[in-house]
Amino acid sequence: MAEQVIYLDGKYVTKDQAVVSVYDHGFLYGDGIFEGIRIYNGNIFKCKEHLQRLYDSAKSIMLEIPLSFEEMQDALIETLRRNELRNGYIRLVVSRGPGNLGLDPNRCKKASVIIIAEQLAIYSEEAYRTGLKTVSVSTRRNIPDALNPKIKSLNYLNNILVKIQSNLSGAGEAIMMNAQGYVTEGSGDNIFIVKNGVILTPPCYLGALDGITRQAIIEICRRKGYSLKEEPFTMHDVYVADEVFLTGTAAEVIAVREVDGRIIGEGHAGPITLKLLEEFRSIVDQDGVKAWG
Ligand code: PMP
Repeated sequence: MAEQVIYLDGKYVTKDQAVVSVYDHGFLYGDGIFEGIRIYNGNIFKCKEHLQRLYDSAKSIMLEIPLSFEEMQDALIETLRRNELRNGYIRLVVSRGPGNLGLDPNRCKKASVIIIAEQLAIYSEEAYRTGLKTVSVSTRRNIPDALNPKIKSLNYLNNILVKIQSNLSGAGEAIMMNAQGYVTEGSGDNIFIVKNGVILTPPCYLGALDGITRQAIIEICRRKGYSLKEEPFTMHDVYVADEVFLTGTAAEVIAVREVDGRIIGEGHAGPITLKLLEEFRSIVDQDGVKAWG
């Protein structure tokens, strides 16, 4: 295994050398954007979709990425090759860059680009069968009028507060509602419920990231003829669902077995969740950009 190499502003450096300025507005203010991407068998899954979300987020917050879309894709591939990584997780961060202590982003002359690629072990295979224990939390999702959830910004304090609450309850993941009490998403994943064969996921305008995995599941449902609706629902609907599952780049498709002490379905991963996980895993090394020949 080669020593880990990190891409930092055009250079490939060691972990120790991969440092940024304390004046970087990403550090000072969470001013920046990021992506989490998976590589499966040398295939960067949904690479273009992730990069598109990154460039759209950048445009929305008026952050100029100093690399073209193609250059960014090349940098991703080169980072993976230098790390000899065929299976793993890529964290791509673009911060506003070093400025001064003031808020004004005009003081930041150049955005910083960081690519970290490493191995990933998030849930055991058993966890995909048994499902996660979750709780709903009092922390509300940031309102879309304040920070649009389509922007995958570095400002994750809202999600971190959710994680703190979830940790305190001894849960593996938490479910966030918006200010109106509609279910939005988890701290780091999208949510789906299944009731009487119909699959529901909240529309993103309620306050959820437009997850790439969420979209992949929607595509699979359409292709396989499952009935799927993007529709608002409440915690009551979650409690009485036949199945509940979460989706995300790191988590893939993982069942929820318990929510706020209510057992979901049979108390383990349900048949539709497992089928969707299987379908999802059958495309992850196909659909994307090959980093390795
Ligand atoms: N919601 C939030 C808040 C997230 O951080 C993530 C992980 N990026 C997701 C949903 C899932 O998105 P994706 O499928 O693109 O990883």
